[in-house]
Amino acid sequence: MPADKIIVVRNDECDENIKKAGGKAYDGSALFDGNFDHIQDVLTTLNIPHTLIGKSELDKDTYSLDDKWILIFNSNFFFEHCCNPEHLKLAPNLISRVDVCPGPNNHQVHSTKLSDKAIKKIRHFVEEGGYLFTEHMNIQEIIERAFKKVIVHTRFLRGKLVKIQPASGQEQNPYLKYVFNTPYGWDLKSVPSVQWKIDDESPNIRIINKDKVTVLIVSPELAMSQRVKAQWQSPSAFRQHQFRKIRAVIPQLMWRKAGFFIS
Ligand SMILES: [Zn+2]
Ligand SMILES: [Zn+2]
Repeated sequence: MPADKIIVVRNDECDENIKKAGGKAYDGSALFDGNFDHIQDVLTTLNIPHTLIGKSELDKDTYSLDDKWILIFNSNFFFEHCCNPEHLKLAPNLISRVDVCPGPNNHQVHSTKLSDKAIKKIRHFVEEGGYLFTEHMNIQEIIERAFKKVIVHTRFLRGKLVKIQPASGQEQNPYLKYVFNTPYGWDLKSVPSVQWKIDDESPNIRIINKDKVTVLIVSPELAMSQRVKAQWQSPSAFRQHQFRKIRAVIPQLMWRKAGFFIS
């Protein structure tokens, strides 16, 4: 497969500032460059030829996807953050810089979000038959914007391990090759125990247009926990919960107050 047909896109928009900061935080740890994963390294390990580009290149009007076959995005951090090189050294993680930057002033706030033009380009690429592979953070940045009313995110999940299984009828789907089976065939005994790691703050996925989406993997365990949570968060349950919490807090306060008086 020619390398120029498979394109991997990484966040390159913090690179300059990270370079200016010397690449290291105050504690010597490497500065996070906004890429949660590095698909290019996986493809290299698998001996799959590919071309690595930055988001800034994809954003350019002159960059065309017309002659490409496959477009793969690293999961990357696209929210607004302060990218002042001096401040980067203070907090090694871009994520921690969304709300409060520890730098004193001169904050250089930017977002690495793809432009609407780039989103349009991606949509056109897929409509023409191109393959697009994205990761969880890209649901919000790319999927929801390029393919409206198909898949959306709801709340953000806490990190955890959940049991997964192939969606009904998808057991032999080639995309699931080696997820549940071994190179020698199905290992049925392992299916119920295969687990998926949900990273902290992953978007919960809601499928709006079921005709356009083929679900490959499901997690009844996660669905169940979400249902329980939704019930728990219904207004009356919430009020009861708050009430119980208040009742639990009051004795504690009284005890503290009593302790104070005694001393
Ligand atoms: Zn940045
Ligand atoms: Zn700052």
